[in-house]
Amino acid sequence: MQRFDMGTRRCSWAAGLALAAALALPVVVFTQEPTPQPLTVVRAARVLDVTTGQLLYNYQVVVEGDLVKAVGPRAAVPGATAVELGDATLLPGLIDCHTHITQDPGDYYDQIFRRSPIDLAVAAHRYARRTLEAGFTTVRDVGAAEFVDIALRNAIARGEVVGPRILAAGLAIGATGGHADLSGFSPYLKFETFSGVADGEDEIRRKVRINIKHGADLIKVVATAGVLSEEESVGAPQYTLDELRALVDEAHMWGKKVAAHAHGAEGIRRAIEAGVDSVDHASLIDDEGIRLARARGTYLVMDVYNDDYILAEYRRLRYPEKIIEKERKVGQLQRENFRKAVQAGAKMAFGTDAAVFPHGWNARQFAKMVEAGQAPIEAIRAATVHAADLLGLGDRIGSIAPGKAADLVAAPGNPLADVTLLERVSFVMKGGVIYKGGAAARTGIEP
Ligand SMILES: [Zn+2]
Repeated sequence: MQRFDMGTRRCSWAAGLALAAALALPVVVFTQEPTPQPLTVVRAARVLDVTTGQLLYNYQVVVEGDLVKAVGPRAAVPGATAVELGDATLLPGLIDCHTHITQDPGDYYDQIFRRSPIDLAVAAHRYARRTLEAGFTTVRDVGAAEFVDIALRNAIARGEVVGPRILAAGLAIGATGGHADLSGFSPYLKFETFSGVADGEDEIRRKVRINIKHGADLIKVVATAGVLSEEESVGAPQYTLDELRALVDEAHMWGKKVAAHAHGAEGIRRAIEAGVDSVDHASLIDDEGIRLARARGTYLVMDVYNDDYILAEYRRLRYPEKIIEKERKVGQLQRENFRKAVQAGAKMAFGTDAAVFPHGWNARQFAKMVEAGQAPIEAIRAATVHAADLLGLGDRIGSIAPGKAADLVAAPGNPLADVTLLERVSFVMKGGVIYKGGAAARTGIEP
């Protein structure tokens, strides 16, 4: 996804941003929101230990404040608020490593010409709530117009808006005429916006710095052409190896990870060689790309669900024919290549490109991953321990363990037997606060 909606009100928007930047703390991802209960004990028929893959029966999770205090066999916890979830499986909060939480699917032309970033900014909180209520307690948001993602992240962290913990990339960085640019329209059509378009090593380094200056947690680079934009061939590389190396060097120098959008095999290889932390989409990855990813430990984030949605909805969304031709080319190939990458043992993290399809449907991708050859536990690991590792938060989230964030979701049944149960989570806790399923399950204070 890239089709960033453009706006024309740069002056007033920029002034608002400057104020926000002045008020915001530099690292707000873990700032606490509504105050959690001091002590809670959550019980369900099963607890899934994602690291071992074992289901633990008759277990409970004790939560103190915003952290997990203990995981162990059922026992009384005097003074704790008890939450009884019955025939459900408790898992760590899910993580989607590729969202665009500031936009939702809509009419192609309406989104480009009739909506400004202000429209996005006032609606984005709804997508954030839907994402959290779907069990995704953390997302890595990889590209948004006008730093709306960063403002949303900050509002959630301050407790003003309900949503997942967000790691935000700010503006996606890409070449003139590429997937991060707006192509296919009159040369006289111009939008006054912050832009991630940059050519050459110096400009690219400067864009990295601008993103970091405005609060980006990571850097998103567009290494090849894309699907949902009107530039040419979907697989074409759009940065040279030297340009990619400069971008990665600059980002890593500031301690920021890099997510690379890449569909074509050549661009994927360049991105991995340049040292990106994840290759996203990876649709046309070849054997050499898979080998390189394994050798370098690069994560693949393959969004294998959204093809179904695009091909079902493109007429209603009025995507130009050029875009649909591209989707038809890559959608099925991506699933075949996902299977090859899984068989080869490449590191996989869960990412959906939510925004291409409605936010809150993120978990529909689990079934596609299993269909394409991944064991259910591996698909769940991709969205928990592996995702947490990719985000650099392996010590804070991704599994249910003492000292980690109290991010818990419950699936109504056993998700190892049926991953589609993750599409209907019955309970969501983030940072010790219950956002879904609490009212019916709370049974009072333990004697
Ligand atoms: Zn995307």
